[in-house]
Formats: sequence, C-alpha cells, structure tokens
Amino acid sequence: MSNIAIHPSIDGGRKSVATAFAGGTLVCECSTNPVKVKINGDIAHNHACGCTKCWKPAGAAFSVVAVAPTENVEVLENGEKLAVVDPAALIQRHACKECGVHMYGPVERDHPFQGLSFVHPERFEEEGWASPGFAAFVSSIIESGFDPSNMDAVRARFTDLDLEPYDCLSPALMDFIATWTAKKNGVLTA
Ligand SMILES: [Zn+2]
Ligand SMILES: [Zn+2]
Repeated sequence: MSNIAIHPSIDGGRKSVATAFAGGTLVCECSTNPVKVKINGDIAHNHACGCTKCWKPAGAAFSVVAVAPTENVEVLENGEKLAVVDPAALIQRHACKECGVHMYGPVERDHPFQGLSFVHPERFEEEGWASPGFAAFVSSIIESGFDPSNMDAVRARFTDLDLEPYDCLSPALMDFIATWTAKKNGVLTA
C-alpha cells in the first residue's frame, strides 16, 4: 500500500532545503478574510504527527507540525476569528472558527516546551521551510479510525520516505523532556 495518504506535503517525496528559512506568513483556508499569522524567523523540529489533536488537511492521516518561539508569533489579520480549541490542553491551539485550521498553538504552562508555539508550515504562503524530519505518534492514527491492519504499510511508507516512525516523539525530544523533568526534580543538577 504505497498509496497511503500520509500528508500532501510528504506524499510526493520530501523536498530538501539546505538554507535556513527566514519565516513567513501562515494563512488559513478561508477564501475571504483569512486569518494571517506571521512567524519571524525559522521553524524547528518539523515532523509528521499522528495524534488526534493536531489539525490535518482533508484526507491526510498525519499532520505536519513544527515549533517556533512564541515571541516570534504575531497575528496580522482577522485574529478575531481565532478561538482556542481546548483551553485545558497543554498546547493552546488557536483555530480559525470558520475553516478550522489551527494557526498557532503556544505552550504557556510550566513544561519543557514552554515558550514555543506549534504551527503547521504547510500554511505558509512562502516556500523554503525545512521538510519533516521524523514521524511522531504514529500508532495514534488508529485512535482516529485508521485500520490497524495497515500500520505495517504506514511505517514502511515512512521508512521509504526516510522519515523514522516513532510512537511518541523522537528520541532527541524525549531526552530533552526527561532532562527538563530530572533537573526540575533535582535528580540532575548539571
Ligand atoms: Zn479560516
Ligand atoms: Zn499531533
């Protein structure tokens, strides 16, 4: 099953980007009065995500999501159309109330990701952002109704695309979170 729709920005093969991305403007799907959010500077940790909370384009099994410092996020136009999807969630996903696209999701509470905002780079008007580097929460697509018997094919497809599939975050990010927790608990001091 190589025709699995992972995500439109991935299915045709990954674009390699050598240079840093200068940032750009995220635009929602509304044909009139779209929400526009400016990201100043590059994004980081771009990845495919199979969780049930991230916004996905129609037909895609995965989202494509990255982070930017929240201080680099600026709502430019039609911000009154934004509402937080789940105020109790760690990521305060600000979605357009009309088209449903998640425009930015800051982490504000005490957490290793505090100060970062999650964004969907496919909504950039500009090209040149780094393509996804791994796939996270792959098993979670089953929670959205994906047929469990096709999971081997999904993981094989990611491997074909040179995207390592993980069922949580990447080892680098899991280590980052665990290090933060250990320092907070005083187990690690350095
Ligand atoms: Zn919209
Ligand atoms: Zn997700």
